[in-house]
Amino acid sequence: MGKKSRRSNRKGRSSVQIPTADSLRQLNKEAFKSHDNRLYSEAVHKYEEGLEAIKIQSSNTIDLSILEIFKMKSTFSQNLIMMEYSRCGFDRVIQIYNDIQMSPENEKVPLSFMNKLQRQLAMLRLDSSSENKDQLKSLINDRISEGMKGYNDYDEMFSFLEAVRLLRNLKYYDEAITLGEKLERLDENGVGAEFENAVSHLERYRSGYHKQTDSRFPNNFLLPVKDACYKFENGNGKAECIRGDAYMIMVAQSNFLCHQIDNKQHSSQLCSNAIEHVERYLEWEWYLDRRCFTCLQKGTATEVQLVCSGCRFACYCSLDHQRMTWKKDAIQGMRIGHEILCPLMKAYRKWRLVSKEDNERALKLRRRLDRECAYFLSDGLGLKDKCFQERDVQEFLYSQNTCTLL
Ligand SMILES: [Zn+2]
Ligand SMILES: [Zn+2]
Repeated sequence: MGKKSRRSNRKGRSSVQIPTADSLRQLNKEAFKSHDNRLYSEAVHKYEEGLEAIKIQSSNTIDLSILEIFKMKSTFSQNLIMMEYSRCGFDRVIQIYNDIQMSPENEKVPLSFMNKLQRQLAMLRLDSSSENKDQLKSLINDRISEGMKGYNDYDEMFSFLEAVRLLRNLKYYDEAITLGEKLERLDENGVGAEFENAVSHLERYRSGYHKQTDSRFPNNFLLPVKDACYKFENGNGKAECIRGDAYMIMVAQSNFLCHQIDNKQHSSQLCSNAIEHVERYLEWEWYLDRRCFTCLQKGTATEVQLVCSGCRFACYCSLDHQRMTWKKDAIQGMRIGHEILCPLMKAYRKWRLVSKEDNERALKLRRRLDRECAYFLSDGLGLKDKCFQERDVQEFLYSQNTCTLL
């Protein structure tokens, strides 16, 4: 009799199967790796279907134990949050989190530290009030005083680095650097924290702190930059923490900041290094090919993408994502928005379309692009009156075998 009722139960819910954790993990991985919109939607759909199926199972626990249901629900919800966060769906992250908090006591899913952090980061992206900032800080401090257990988990490290970027974006440079230094100590072999820290120093310098900086700044800043770049170029396994765009723009800025030295030859070499790296950055963006410049999702063939009317270069999956990076954060975690990149991208696109031609027009557009790159560094980013003096960088530049910075 018992057997019979079990069979009929199974038949009744055949339309809502719980996906296996393995199949979801695989899908999750693929969606993250490719940033493919179709895969993302598929994964989100499966998770939601899975949660629905679990709900039905919960009321009839013949096949699964309560503990199993609980664990599965928790994993599904946590992965959904991560997924939505990575595609910049900040509203959804908060919504999922709130749904969990609102569910009845016996259905509540315990969330990991990482998810609490993601939720707080999502809140900050949407509403950068001081209350949110305080909550984020206390969350991180609790974790640090706890010994940052599980920091070696890749996802967890990634969340912390994201927190550094966000703090920086909010101009909380001291906090960003303090957290970055702690991460550097914990993740000695990784290059991610070291790189983010170098960017924090650079951003602080650029945002007007340079007047208060002591004379050791160039060395404190240039050495870590050089170190991070060396590790990046040699790709020691963790370089995927860093996006190529941020790397190119950092190298470009470092070279430019040193170019006002007395030695004319070295000076022009540093300047052309800087311009070359801005162009390498633009090339990196050029090959994004139909991906959203904010979330990196690749649209499907039938999806209409928005193209910036200024440069006709930058694509976006939605108006929301275009707005999100207009003023800042167009380059991961830097206070550089598309606003100042737009004329640069326009010049690049114009040149790129005729770059194969060997004529006067191509040459003219090429010169114009070079000028735009230099202007972007000197005026766009405002580096022209922040360059180091000869005496500041002498020790650094000439203590190396090579004369050029990078
Ligand atoms: Zn997008
Ligand atoms: Zn544009």
